[in-house]
Amino acid sequence: MDKPRDKCGVFGIYAPGEDIARLTFFALHALQHRGQESAGIATSDGHVAHIYKAMGLVNQVFNEENLATLPGHLAIGHNRYSTTGSSKLRNAQPLLIETALGPLGVAHNGNLINAPQLRRDLLQRGVGLSSSSDTEVMVQLLAGSHGDWNSRLRGMMAQAEGAYALTILTRNAVFGLRDPWGFRPLAVGKLGKSGYVLASESCAFATIGAEFIREVQPGEIVRLDANGLHAEQGAAPRNFSLCTFEHIYFARPDSLFQGRVIHAIRQELGRALAREAPAPADIVVAVPDSGTPAAIGYAQESGLHFTEGFIKNRYIGRTFIQPTDRLRQNSVSLKFNPLPGNLNGKRVVMVDDSIVRGNTAGPLVQLLRDGGATEVHVRVSSPPIKHPCFMGVDMATRAELIAHNFSVDDICRRIGADSLAYISLEGMMRAVGAIDPDGTPHGYCNACFTGNYPIPLVEEMDKLSLEQAFG
Ligand code: 5GP
Ligand code: MG
Repeated sequence: MDKPRDKCGVFGIYAPGEDIARLTFFALHALQHRGQESAGIATSDGHVAHIYKAMGLVNQVFNEENLATLPGHLAIGHNRYSTTGSSKLRNAQPLLIETALGPLGVAHNGNLINAPQLRRDLLQRGVGLSSSSDTEVMVQLLAGSHGDWNSRLRGMMAQAEGAYALTILTRNAVFGLRDPWGFRPLAVGKLGKSGYVLASESCAFATIGAEFIREVQPGEIVRLDANGLHAEQGAAPRNFSLCTFEHIYFARPDSLFQGRVIHAIRQELGRALAREAPAPADIVVAVPDSGTPAAIGYAQESGLHFTEGFIKNRYIGRTFIQPTDRLRQNSVSLKFNPLPGNLNGKRVVMVDDSIVRGNTAGPLVQLLRDGGATEVHVRVSSPPIKHPCFMGVDMATRAELIAHNFSVDDICRRIGADSLAYISLEGMMRAVGAIDPDGTPHGYCNACFTGNYPIPLVEEMDKLSLEQAFG
């Protein structure tokens, strides 16, 4: 069976008088970095719902013709991130069904850790399921319960454990929900006089001319309808556990999280890295694009000259979406060429945001040497990733994570660098702005670095093989 463990982009809009399908298209386009496998939009015109979804990038999926089949004044949209073995149209979102209360569409970013139990319960109650997706489980929990949508949503939140940022379409309202831990981001904004929008990241608001209002709070239900914006606490908030990897890698640098622009946080990570791990070098280069802000910060703090060491082909998708390790390795040279003019005879610091499987850094070090670098010192703006993620990020299995299997010295040798250093967990949390006066980090999930999962059940799951857990 598929293992849908997705990092995705979600969007929602309630805006009478606007071309909502077109606005959703542009918002999904702005959120393209959160998922490149499939894209979909579901709309409601107050009577019936309409949907179009397909495999591919947002601008491959949608055109004038199919956007014209999506009328209405409210909509949700979804970009799905691929994980190995699950590249199927039936996993594409939003999911849309008909219920006693009318249409119900759901777009989900995250992963429910108790989906297997919830699935079993539903099947035992005679509910048919058409996929292995945890999103379908939520859809069926909502469809099969009683009361109005708000009370159904509260009921679902009482049962679902794990990570979910959701946008939900009903006949007359769009809802935004965030799980009680706040693992995945979700923000709400204003569009024109009476319109409202929801998006995984605020960068989508700027694109469509909407204004950021605030983040949806952990455990909160936001409803957008003819009465405007209505918010209520759907479940008691737990320890705030936003995914630190949003800051490190996932989020677009121009998105705002907790009042700070991601680009500034990444530069700060680079500055902290430079203080913790200086290098005997002449120049600093980034692994573009995700490593660039941290490399700029590293150069500022160290006083070394920042320049470009690579040119990246911007028309190649992220390497994670390649299905096999061999393709991933090849994709490095498909993606990057060195700039010998900048590198020749230089001792180089190469800054990247993360080493996950360890397939990227080695070939890049070699490319720098091919380009004439005399020494290559690799610096990484996140700590070693040693543990898999159960909160909605396809962070590979433990066996695939290079830092789970090897020490920093071993990794340095394997990637052929002259030196290798990662930022410390404390240094990272300081840069993110999440350290208590007594030195303890708060507000973030750092499970992939520490193995401390915010939800105890996950440790149980961790003992199972992923196949058992998600199969
Ligand atoms: P790896 O060590 O797995 O070969 O790749 C590390 C590189 O992948 C880094 O440049 C980092 O920016 C990038 N990376 C980290 N997480 C992800 C992810 O979830 N998806 C993609 N496409 N790249 C990632
Ligand atoms: Mg990168």
